Amino acid sequence: MIYKRSSALFAEAEKVIPGGVNSPVRAFKGVGGTPIFVKEAKGAYLYDEDGNRLIDYINSWGPMILGHAFQPVVDAVVEKAKKGTSFGMPTEIETEIAQLAVSMVPNIDKIRFVNSGTEACMSAVRLARGYTGKDKIIKFAGCYHGHSDSFLIQAGSGLSTFGTPNSPGVTQGTAKDTLLANYNDIDNVKALMEANKNEIACVIVEPVPGNMGCIPPINNFLENLRILCDEHHILLIFDEVMSGFRLAKGGAQELYGVNADIACFGKVIGGGLPVGAFAARAEIMNHLAPLGPVYQAGTLSGNPLAMAAGLAMLKTLNEDAEIFERLEAKTKYLHEGIARVLTENKVTHTINRVGSMISVHFDEAAVVDFETAAKGNNESFKKFFHGLLNEGVYIAPSAFETWFITDALSYEDLDFTIEAVNKVSKSM
Ligand SMILES: *Cc1c(COP(=O)(O)O)cnc(C)c1O
Repeated sequence: MIYKRSSALFAEAEKVIPGGVNSPVRAFKGVGGTPIFVKEAKGAYLYDEDGNRLIDYINSWGPMILGHAFQPVVDAVVEKAKKGTSFGMPTEIETEIAQLAVSMVPNIDKIRFVNSGTEACMSAVRLARGYTGKDKIIKFAGCYHGHSDSFLIQAGSGLSTFGTPNSPGVTQGTAKDTLLANYNDIDNVKALMEANKNEIACVIVEPVPGNMGCIPPINNFLENLRILCDEHHILLIFDEVMSGFRLAKGGAQELYGVNADIACFGKVIGGGLPVGAFAARAEIMNHLAPLGPVYQAGTLSGNPLAMAAGLAMLKTLNEDAEIFERLEAKTKYLHEGIARVLTENKVTHTINRVGSMISVHFDEAAVVDFETAAKGNNESFKKFFHGLLNEGVYIAPSAFETWFITDALSYEDLDFTIEAVNKVSKSM
């Protein structure tokens, strides 16, 4: 394939935008080469600036669960735009989408809308600290909760070691309040809680991590987190920015039957517009301003365009009784097809899948946490990525990402993809 125009556009972008991109993973640093500039997209396909058609397995990193330019969302946004795009005053549609979200998600009474997943997680942690009167948080290595300071922390080894920042600009003062644990390792969490008694406000977790590949919870990890949090009066925050409205109507809470105290949303909930949200029982949410003392605000929060897109998306998901089964069936078909051709071509691999989240790892061992995810062969991944791209299949340009399956994919698209994997894996 030819990427002449993309390359030229990237060179122009680099002069005025740091690294040429507005979010780092788009820059292809993990796989090499220059990023592809999109011109438009419809359904399961992207069309780039050079006229190439690509089957899209990223889907804006999750939001386009029903495909690109999904008609009900487009119509809702166009209609709203004609009537004014932001007022900084309350509008009825905010209540409509809040009522719908509250009806779909377990264990929440109230929801506050923000503009990104980052904002949702950052605000949820502030709320948890304000509610409990405690400062420390536990997060898991390899889980991503957006780019706010408290979350950009790397592991120090040993249970009592304080976290150290893994980005310049994050202060030691912030880092010392973030404790790092290993996903799927409940004893690790228990030890941290024992060592920091009465100091921990919350545990924040991606219930099904999707930012180190897709990692299923094992050995009742989520149930056990719930029990430990209750024992220690710690709030459990599920960051469902990726899993929410994707794994089920009620996200991972519904799928695993485990209630979180606060749930964070993003991606699907905005239907492709900048939306995030966090939600909890009234008793917790009532601590937020203007009802309570925990401050949180946003000039564009709940703006009509974003709410119209989100509402059209959630309505469709709520009314389609088979949507999540259909997504899972397509993902399972892809999983089995890819596993078959990789095995036939003797490529060492592990495939993880939960619902419509799936990731292919180039290592034999089970991938259950950040350490095992990091062991995958990155050279194999690069070949795989560029090989697929050349065949017209676009997966995330990073070995640590989930593929996001959309309902717009047909079984012909899946067969095409499996055949592309077959071709590429012959030369791996
Ligand atoms: C994408 C993501 C975020 C951050 O959301 P943004 O909208 O990019 O700020 C937070 N948590 C998880 C689990 C995510 O996947």
